[in-house]
Amino acid sequence: MTENSTSLELQGDIPPEDSPSAPPGSSPWTPSLEEWQTLLDGEPSYRLDQLWRGLYSEQLEPNEISTLPKGLRQRIGEHFKPSLDLATKQSADDGKTIKWLWALPDGSSIETVLMHYNRRSTVCVSSQAGCAMACGFCATGQAGYERHLTVGEILEQVVSAQRQAAEIDSRLSNVVFMGMGEPMANYDRVLESVRRLITDMGIGARKITVSTVGLAPQMRRLAGEGLQVGLALSLHAANDDLRTELVPVNKRHPIDELIDCCQQFRRTTGRRVSLEWAMIDGVNDRDSDADELASVARRAHAHINLIPLNPTPGWPTVGTPPDRIDAFARRLTDRGANATIRANRGTDIDAACGQLAGSVAKHKTGAQAVTLGPSPGTKGGRT
Ligand code: SF4
Repeated sequence: MTENSTSLELQGDIPPEDSPSAPPGSSPWTPSLEEWQTLLDGEPSYRLDQLWRGLYSEQLEPNEISTLPKGLRQRIGEHFKPSLDLATKQSADDGKTIKWLWALPDGSSIETVLMHYNRRSTVCVSSQAGCAMACGFCATGQAGYERHLTVGEILEQVVSAQRQAAEIDSRLSNVVFMGMGEPMANYDRVLESVRRLITDMGIGARKITVSTVGLAPQMRRLAGEGLQVGLALSLHAANDDLRTELVPVNKRHPIDELIDCCQQFRRTTGRRVSLEWAMIDGVNDRDSDADELASVARRAHAHINLIPLNPTPGWPTVGTPPDRIDAFARRLTDRGANATIRANRGTDIDAACGQLAGSVAKHKTGAQAVTLGPSPGTKGGRT
């Protein structure tokens, strides 16, 4: 893995999975259980359990885990610190929507959005700093690609959301990978995060949704993982000419290939894929668009989510008015497709779909190899 963070000139292309990523290990949520076992070599075996439980069941930073001896907490803290440094926090919708802008150790920045609904909460997490997919209507795509996030940087967003939800007596029930970045381009780290959300943080697999703009090989891979997570395909156009214009990666993975992936996902997991459709005035909201979309949805055995488009700087068009969205939804239903109009949350703090594009001043740090077990000549269990 390349450990330095640099910008890639890959607009509209797919960054390889080993493309620039933050130094691994800087977040305590990055190492796997096995890696922590090695790092804690020489400590009593129950220390590993105490650390893991503190990180994942109690959402504590290592220095807050009081069951660990002070010396061990200090040694862990010298090498592992939370990666997300709060830059700004905004709220909207009477406090029901919260958006964090985080500065990362290498100077990149990402955003996370938390939405509360009746004592349950959903967090929308970022999987990359920036995005290389270059979808023209998306603020993240307009800003360009910086790097993949580490497992720790992804999971810390969820930990922050869990802590925030608990403050208002809500429970974080859903996690959606629909923030900044293309999750499937950072597949291994996203999948490891998903597994830990399910196994260690108690989030139900069916309450986790991974979105993609249409990376077909990774969609097939996800179908074969044996997980019950949801898959959301950001479709936005149902013919290849228009879709390639809106979502450039369509040139590589056209609609027929994506329909095949949706069918396979349904066959293998028993779960319908959802087709995300940002309603763009005069672009993809005509009767002919509804007819094409209904046909694609029927073939893909998929459900459609209609999303009122949010304004973004740099994209000249506007969202479809509400009455025409209603008519579009009716036309889909009349043609045998299932469609839902999604409520828009957080528009006034740029926290809605397609609006995430964090930017903060950059600062750099480095990483180093560490072991955290007792110093040579000592035995574990110090308190
Ligand atoms: S819509 Fe998604 S995939 Fe497209 S540029 Fe924005 S973040 Fe990337």
